[in-house]
Amino acid sequence: MSNITRRSWLKMTAGGAGVTLTGFGIQQQKAYAREEKKKLEGVEEFTTSCNFCSCGCGMVAHVKEGKLVNLEGDPDHIVSEGALCSKGSAMFETHYSEQRVKKPLYRAPGSDHWEEISWDDAITRIAKKIKEVRDKNWIATEKEGDVEYKVNRTEAIGFMGGAQNTNEECYLFAKMGRLIGTPYIEHQARL
Ligand code: SF4
Repeated sequence: MSNITRRSWLKMTAGGAGVTLTGFGIQQQKAYAREEKKKLEGVEEFTTSCNFCSCGCGMVAHVKEGKLVNLEGDPDHIVSEGALCSKGSAMFETHYSEQRVKKPLYRAPGSDHWEEISWDDAITRIAKKIKEVRDKNWIATEKEGDVEYKVNRTEAIGFMGGAQNTNEECYLFAKMGRLIGTPYIEHQARL
């Protein structure tokens, strides 16, 4: 015992602690790997994007038996490369939130409350409103000096796309905007 110096005692204990911690680390890693494997059993993967802001960071959604079980950053996404900010990291909670609006809501003029309506009803109302606004604000021609040109447009309607829209959706939005006759086709990320 007298041969043990303070330095050698410290070395021994530090080494022992290192071995113990290393062993613990391996055990922990194995446990995590087992958990991860269990969690992903029978799971389907879909790519999607965060719906909170205009960055549109990529996400991977894991779905098991028709239910979303996990959402995380998509490492293959060209822009975000797997990273998510705190809002994006918390997005899973919104999926099962009781406050999530899942049906169209309508508040009648003068009313103080919203009521649920069907999707068919909502689409019909929106279509009628668009037609009404378009007709009321239609500009068929414009004059420059004595010359009158056909312009056929409305400046009362604008289309706003978002970073979450796919190329295909943007293609349809742009077509729809031009069909309606609005020159205002924009994207949220440009603002
Ligand atoms: S993860 Fe954050 S930065 Fe990315 S889209 Fe969502 S809210 Fe925006």
